[in-house]
Amino acid sequence: MAKWRWRSMTQKKLFRPDPAYRGRFAPSPTGPLHFGSLVAAVGSYLDAKHHGGTWLIRMEDLDTPRCMPNAAEDILRTLAAFGLHSDEPVLYQSRRSSAYEKTLKYLQDIGTTYPCGCTRKEISDSALQGIDGPVYPGTCRNGFSPERKAHAWRVRTDSRRVEFDDELQGRIGQNIENEIGDFVIKRADGLFAYQLAVVVDDAFQGITHVVRGADLLSSTPRQIHLQHLLGLTTPAYMHLPVVTNHAGEKLSKQTRAEAVIPGDGATLYQVLKFLRQQPPPSLREDAIKEMLAWGVKHWQPENLRGPLHLMADQSAA
Ligand code: GLU
Repeated sequence: MAKWRWRSMTQKKLFRPDPAYRGRFAPSPTGPLHFGSLVAAVGSYLDAKHHGGTWLIRMEDLDTPRCMPNAAEDILRTLAAFGLHSDEPVLYQSRRSSAYEKTLKYLQDIGTTYPCGCTRKEISDSALQGIDGPVYPGTCRNGFSPERKAHAWRVRTDSRRVEFDDELQGRIGQNIENEIGDFVIKRADGLFAYQLAVVVDDAFQGITHVVRGADLLSSTPRQIHLQHLLGLTTPAYMHLPVVTNHAGEKLSKQTRAEAVIPGDGATLYQVLKFLRQQPPPSLREDAIKEMLAWGVKHWQPENLRGPLHLMADQSAA
C-alpha cells in the first residue's frame, strides 16, 4: 500500500503532498555526527519533506554503556546547524523502558519469547556463522536450566520467509530461523535490544516511512517479524547506500570517522552529491536553507537504486 504510494509519486513525478507521511532519523548517541549519519539524516528529511510529511528525530540512547556523555545534545545541535529540526519533541529511548517492558510482557504472555542462559562463547562454539553473527542454535528453546542466573529473552522465529519491497534495494527476503535464529529482545545485562525498541517506537510515533542506511537492511525482517507478532503495521522501507571510506569500511566511530563541521555548506553540498541528487554547481555558494530547499524540491531517490555501499566523494566538496 505504502509502496504503491511511493512509486506512483516518484514515477509520475507528481507532487502530491502526503500529510499522513511520518518519517524519522534515529541516531545512537555514541559519538558526534559523521558524514555517514548526516547522509541518513538528510535522506530521511528530504524524503519526508518532499512528500509534505512530518519528520522526527528519535534519540536511540538505549545502549547506555555505548552512549557518550553530551553526544545527544551535540548531535541535535549539529542537525539544527544544518537546518534539520524535529517537527515534534525528540523522543529519548532511555525514557521508554515501561513501553518496552509492557511489550516484553505481552510477548511472554503469548508464549513467543523465552529466557536464554547461553553465553556468547557457548553460542559461537556451537553455532553456524550467519549474516549477522552466529545463528542461535536454539539451545534454550525448550527449557531454561534454572541454575543459570543472568539471562536474555529471545523471540521465537520460524522457517517462513519474511519478505518486503525496499524502495531502493528491491525485494528482500530472509528466513530468519536459518539465517539469524531466535533473536534477543532483552539482553542479559537488562537492557532492551535495538530490534524491540525500534519496532515499539516506530509504531508509537506512527512512522509510515523508514529511510535509513543499508547496514540495517538485514535487521528489517526481524523488525517485520516483531510487527507481525504485535499486530502492528509495517512501514515502507528505503535503505540508502552506506557511506564507506577509501578502505571500503563503513564510516563509524570504530573506523574513526571524523565529526562533520556543524552547518558547513560544503558538507551539505557533498551530502546532496552523495545522494546522487545532481545539485547545480551554483548551489555550492548558497546558504544551508536554500540548499535544503533545493534538495526537498528536486528529491529523486530513484537515482540511488542499486548500490548498497558508496564511497564518500571527497572531491565533491
Ligand atoms: N540507531 C540506529 C543507528 O544509529 C538506527 C536505527 C534505525 O534507523 O532504525 O544505527
